[in-house]
Amino acid sequence: MTCLILATRNAGKITELHAILADAGLHHELVGADAYPEIPDVKETGVTFAENALLKAHTLARATGLPAVADDSGLCVDVLGGAPGIFSARWAGRHGDDEANLRLLLAQLSDIAPAHRGAHFACAAALALPDGTERVVEGHLRGTLRTAPSGTGGFGYDPILQPDGDTRTCAELTAAEKNAISHRGHAFRALVPVVRELVG
Ligand code: IMP
Repeated sequence: MTCLILATRNAGKITELHAILADAGLHHELVGADAYPEIPDVKETGVTFAENALLKAHTLARATGLPAVADDSGLCVDVLGGAPGIFSARWAGRHGDDEANLRLLLAQLSDIAPAHRGAHFACAAALALPDGTERVVEGHLRGTLRTAPSGTGGFGYDPILQPDGDTRTCAELTAAEKNAISHRGHAFRALVPVVRELVG
């Protein structure tokens, strides 16, 4: 059985990709980047989600000799021309300060009417082989931004994105409901035929 490495220290992402591959009849062993603590985190120097995902996947594949999967994601707001985009995790300045990021974004959009509050989560998922072969796919979750946070589930901008066709925010969905429609779920599912083709 081939082992795949996933460029994340987030156990939830490993479980999600594992379940998606298993549903498709692919039973690869999946390990997280934590299995190789000596490999430093990759600097996300790309200017697109795809570039950053490929950067992380290539680095891990080269360093471990294993096929590597990496993802990069964020929130793209129509009226901001796609921002925060690749800056989503550090929009308010400090990397990973979800609450400050969300508060700043709401303040920036305070005068914007509901009809113009369209946005989407985007995720690029990349597969790289140690020989340099690469593929990248994308997934999206389209919705509207609320004027105030609602819900306690999820993370990041989940409390303000209401997916199209729903009356709840992403933070009010169960994990299973979110995974079924999420940008990451779509991207990971689009990666299945790629894994089958390149890894077997
Ligand atoms: P990462 O690519 O998983 O590191 O995500 C980068 C940033 O994008 C996160 O810190 C969040 O701010 C935002 N983000 C990505 N995916 C989601 C999501 O599913 N819900 C809410 N925020 C997200």
